[in-house]
Amino acid sequence: MCPLTIGKLKAMPGETVSGPVRVPGTGLALPVTIIRGEKAGPAALISAGIHPSEYVGIAALQELAEELSPADLRGDLILIRLMNPTGFERRARSAVPEDGKNLNRVFPGSPAGTASERIAHAVSSEFFPRAAFYVDLHSGDACESLVPMIFSAGKCEPRVASASREMAEAADARYLVVSQWPSGQAYGHAAASGIPAILLERGQLGLWSREEAELCKADVRRILARIGLYRGAAPPPRRHRPRRLRQVGQLECPATGLWYPERTAGDRVRSGRPAGEIRDLYGKLLAVPKFAFDGVILYQNESLSAVEGESLVTYGGDPE
Ligand SMILES: [Zn+2]
Repeated sequence: MCPLTIGKLKAMPGETVSGPVRVPGTGLALPVTIIRGEKAGPAALISAGIHPSEYVGIAALQELAEELSPADLRGDLILIRLMNPTGFERRARSAVPEDGKNLNRVFPGSPAGTASERIAHAVSSEFFPRAAFYVDLHSGDACESLVPMIFSAGKCEPRVASASREMAEAADARYLVVSQWPSGQAYGHAAASGIPAILLERGQLGLWSREEAELCKADVRRILARIGLYRGAAPPPRRHRPRRLRQVGQLECPATGLWYPERTAGDRVRSGRPAGEIRDLYGKLLAVPKFAFDGVILYQNESLSAVEGESLVTYGGDPE
């Protein structure tokens, strides 16, 4: 029987092992838990806190690390409990404080790069090769409203895309988006490397609640059951089956100023209707961004501050 080794952590079948895994070339370490079933099976990696103020996933993964036991598993579970620990301490939004970069845009990273690139490289080189599946937990950031949804990797081999979608379909969420979006995201890079991968979004506005953490934990159990890794008590029945959105649009902010949205995440929108108004600091109307098709708002900037070039609203077209 071989140990599963990551950094200085070593776990044998039937064992749970927790501790820090250092990120070479930085003073940083990732808090990691490895839980190995007695019996062999698939290995899954789950991470939270790549965006350090997206708390539902972080809270859920902290609890799952304590609640799941080797007896619940047939296979191995590797948990990166918080991928951006200094960002969490400083309540940073999307960035790693050491370099100001968005960790979910720099994958696969570089061993000679800045702090974000080195974290990404450590995850890509130490964790991804040991995982057959990957789940990345996110939420709506501070100032971001969001409807529970799932991204499944689509910019990868068809076999990987369909396995990703199958995982995503196990979750309790309203919408599923098969993502063709840019590289640099952890789950996108995992999928491009042949690992079926999804990104779960639950919670909003930089907050978390007991109910949302429970729903997130139930989702993780359902997804792990779907891939044959989780054999423990079944989670409660889900409320939604995710419906795939055929089209996703983003309204980019055309001018810096004050933002007065008309609607919020989860609301329906109509083609040609205004998403809201942007005014300058003297009250003058600068712009009225409009929706290009009928659909539903997935997530939206709820801050009064709007910055040119940033995303204001992401919305999806009607489901299949
Ligand atoms: Zn995020």
